[in-house]
Amino acid sequence: MNTAILKKDLQDLESLGIYRTLKTVDSPQGREITLEGKRVLNFCSNDYLGLANDTRIKKAALEAIEEYGLGAGASRLVCGNMGPHERLEADLARFKKTERALLFSSGYMANTGIISALMDHRSVVLSDRLNHASIIDGIILSRAKLMRYPHADMPALREILKNLPAAKRKLIVTDSVFSMDGDRAPLKEIVNLAGHYEAMVMVDEAHAFGVLGKRGSGLVEELGLEGQVDIQMGTLSKAAGSFGAYACGTKILCDYLINKSRSFIYTTAMPPLLAQASRVALQIIRQGDNLRRQLQLNANYLRAELDTLGFDTMNSSTPIIPILVKDSLRAVAMSKQLLRQGIFVQAIRPPTVPMDTARLRLTVMATHTQDDLNQLLNALKTL
Ligand code: PMP
Repeated sequence: MNTAILKKDLQDLESLGIYRTLKTVDSPQGREITLEGKRVLNFCSNDYLGLANDTRIKKAALEAIEEYGLGAGASRLVCGNMGPHERLEADLARFKKTERALLFSSGYMANTGIISALMDHRSVVLSDRLNHASIIDGIILSRAKLMRYPHADMPALREILKNLPAAKRKLIVTDSVFSMDGDRAPLKEIVNLAGHYEAMVMVDEAHAFGVLGKRGSGLVEELGLEGQVDIQMGTLSKAAGSFGAYACGTKILCDYLINKSRSFIYTTAMPPLLAQASRVALQIIRQGDNLRRQLQLNANYLRAELDTLGFDTMNSSTPIIPILVKDSLRAVAMSKQLLRQGIFVQAIRPPTVPMDTARLRLTVMATHTQDDLNQLLNALKTL
């Protein structure tokens, strides 16, 4: 292998300020973690409700390990389909008010597997410009025509739909909460347009599951759109504090995915202990009104204070609060300065976000205290 070429590419990334490295956490996840041997306040995690280290969930995982062992041994379609998977799917379907739910091993695999199963080279996928990378990869895998519309721009989406042949298989796909901007998709308008132009709708609730809606089931619930979205995808790796993902919809949709979705068929089933742990996480989310209220209070406080300090928090309306910096090198320098003050905030750079929109991405947890938030604000004031 010619490593000189690789080295040159890496040097290019470094000079652009977009070289990536790993940092080691040696503690459970939480509002405070041990990072590279030092205790720091954590404002990077998607563990919005603080469930990744919840005693009740850990107990469920330990009991499940005793009862079912560690691995699932094979794919769901061979001998890996175990009781905990089916019981979690039943819980999820009930929670999301859909006929059926189907588990995937991760959100990345759900998005690639769902889209590539449903669409083919004759189809068109209309995708918000800021959708998650796993959605884009699913569209590429499907060989469908990708038509990106400007972020949340409904007149632009309508224009594209208007010019497509009625007979074409069409899918509109959107994050419900955008992972790097923290704003909500205009899902009501999308559902209306889809109805008018006979398109399917798929929503990625990764950052809304457990966070939005009275019951915490997501943006579909918050907007009263239950029964009107064809495919609700979400992950168990964020507010649920666990791992894995789901597709919720009709029984036919799930039967179709079982038969056609390659990332469902050709991979080992999720370890049963994770399915059991996620069932307990789901119970906590269902009764998690107080946690969600605290999360919202924390996010609203932080956003308001940041706005007062003159930071550009973009259109954030959720616990994901970006601070727009634009320049990648500067965003990295700010992140390093914060870390020296014991505050962990990642700089997000292209290609994760569009060129010249590098940012600090703050995520708030329900478990952050007022003091944590004030420490972050004081550190930001010194930048
Ligand atoms: N969709 C969105 C919007 C995400 O933010 C993520 C995770 N970053 C995923 C999908 C992938 O989920 P997972 O981490 O479970 O693979």
